[in-house]
Amino acid sequence: MDEKYYYGGFGGRYVPESLIEPLNELDRNYKSCKKDKNFQSKLSDILKNYAGRPTPLYLSGALSEYCGCSVYLKREDLCHTGAHKINNALGQGLLAVETGKRNIIAETGAGQHGVATAAAAALFGLKCTIYMGTKDIKRQHNNVVRMKLLGADIVEVQEGDKTLNAAVNATLRRWVQDPENIYYLLGSCVGPHPYPAIVRDFHSVIGKEVKEQIPDRPDVIVACVGGGSNSIGIFTPFFKDKNIRFVGVEAEGCASLSKGKVGVLHGAKSYLLYDKNGQIKKTHSIAPGLDYSGVGPEHSFYKERSRAEYVNINDSEALKAFRWLSKNEGIIPALESSHAVAWVMKEKWNGGQKVVINLSGRGDKDIDEIFSMEEIKREYE
Ligand SMILES: *Cc1c(COP(=O)(O)O)cnc(C)c1O
Repeated sequence: MDEKYYYGGFGGRYVPESLIEPLNELDRNYKSCKKDKNFQSKLSDILKNYAGRPTPLYLSGALSEYCGCSVYLKREDLCHTGAHKINNALGQGLLAVETGKRNIIAETGAGQHGVATAAAAALFGLKCTIYMGTKDIKRQHNNVVRMKLLGADIVEVQEGDKTLNAAVNATLRRWVQDPENIYYLLGSCVGPHPYPAIVRDFHSVIGKEVKEQIPDRPDVIVACVGGGSNSIGIFTPFFKDKNIRFVGVEAEGCASLSKGKVGVLHGAKSYLLYDKNGQIKKTHSIAPGLDYSGVGPEHSFYKERSRAEYVNINDSEALKAFRWLSKNEGIIPALESSHAVAWVMKEKWNGGQKVVINLSGRGDKDIDEIFSMEEIKREYE
């Protein structure tokens, strides 16, 4: 076991031999860009002028009154393309440009990462191909159209579960065919090393901004966990301050950390959900971005060390928070982010605390899904 590929025993590179050299090259390229002042200043400029950073840290009057303490929202919903995902897409897109790779490929499930990647590729003038399962293409028509408008080609993945898991495998297989020219832009802090570290670093801008924006240090930081990228991004800069409580909120139907076992998925060792036959479990959540059977290895490390707590929220609690925040604060949160809001609304607070919620995205993308539920439709008609 090569220690440097692991996050306290989790992570690693459980991949075919043919992927080792491409991963080594990626690791070298990333390390040199990370130290390069020119790279960092180009990236900050794009994050500021293209993506809309820094995003505000907003003291929510409605949530503070409801909870009886100070509740802040980190407004990633205001980022270009509607969620935190653009931070990583732009960071890795620039990495591709700087290292001479002209073809971007990426997996997508719900299509949010596909849209962010397609936007980044359009910005940088790169060719972009998105791998997406047959089932997801049918369910996520809006995002398929957005990706096409942004100039991306979509490859339909018909095998396996026909959703995100199969799309990741298909993208990895494509990458090994031509690692010289192809850059695989992975969408969350999962997969073989160095992806979890790269994605974490590009999202750490979220936590760094919070550090500068909050009048005093926060007591609790709360974020939803799908693959784990928006949460690790806001947690990381506060890691050493052991008095700050981290809470990761999973969807009840995809709670790898609170209900899973250790195993290997997509090249990394981490907590995972299995069904009774020992196969990777088919998950379900109302929030498409949380619908994944695994989780980033660094979260498994946080769990084992008790550095973060992992809790879960069900569909109806998330939906309630979604509607409550829309009506009482005038902010329509993504269904994913609504899980974090729901947990904060459920918890008992005693007045003095400062709680920061990472509002990872906006909910406009979820409107059709919500209005396909009869009882909701009736209520608003
Ligand atoms: C994709 C997505 C998530 C889940 O992904 P993480 O990697 O866990 O951050 C959460 N919120 C929104 C809005 C998303 O689009």
